[in-house]
Amino acid sequence: MHIDIFTLFPDMFTGPLTESILKRAQEMGKLSLRLHDIRSWTVDKHNTADDTPYGGGGGMIMKPEPIVAAVEDIVPQDADVPVILLSPQGRLFTQDIAYQLSQNEHIALVCGHYEGIDERVIELVITDEISIGDYVLTGGELAAMIIVDAVVRLLPGVLGAPDAHCYDSHSTGLLEGPHYTRPPMFHGLPVPDVLLSGHEANIEKWRRQASLRRTWQRRPDLLLTAELSKDDKAFLLTLAQEDIEQRGMRPGG
Ligand code: SAM
Repeated sequence: MHIDIFTLFPDMFTGPLTESILKRAQEMGKLSLRLHDIRSWTVDKHNTADDTPYGGGGGMIMKPEPIVAAVEDIVPQDADVPVILLSPQGRLFTQDIAYQLSQNEHIALVCGHYEGIDERVIELVITDEISIGDYVLTGGELAAMIIVDAVVRLLPGVLGAPDAHCYDSHSTGLLEGPHYTRPPMFHGLPVPDVLLSGHEANIEKWRRQASLRRTWQRRPDLLLTAELSKDDKAFLLTLAQEDIEQRGMRPGG
């Protein structure tokens, strides 16, 4: 996969993109990542990339000329490359969107800063706007790093175990259940017996139920859209009954 990132602050990316899985993905040749300093496309001697807003108001707005010139120079116009603006006004980033993006050979991310970017950039070169949550960051750089991380770990061959991400929270529509490693007893807390039993079918069943239980407890909203088998639904019914018996109507009342 090829990712182009357009930013006024390329140095912000140094740590996250040069460590761990993202570093490995680049070393393995699964990811080629290029950072483009938008300021390199400014034409005045002060390299001005922002200006005051028309109509007044506080803050600075990123000027349209360098961003549009940068994107037009770097992103092939005829190749259907998504050009994504990080924006608190975009569609909310989810695991599904990460998966869809991971299917592209090439994506481009544009990071806003200050009060945001001139609206005409969006009309001219942006094909999608993504938000990482309902809050406002100082710039799109951290949001871009989050998207790169979530997308790249889905690329075939990037994670150690090929299907490791298939059971992750949100990949199956549920939260993943708890994990344990050695030692079998820690501060008086044992690892569940079934995980030490070596009985694959029982372990599989325990994991599914632990995932359903955790989703029921923490994110019952996910159960409305998750794919559930008859057994899953029967198990959820027992959880609901447990809740009614032990604590009254919870979660969700
Ligand atoms: N004035 C803008 C508004 O109210 O919509 C917010 C601008 S914000 C201070 C500066 C930049 O940070 C944005 O242009 C965007 O690139 C990035 N940003 C802020 N919050 C974000 C979020 N939740 N998701 C993705 N990018 C975000």
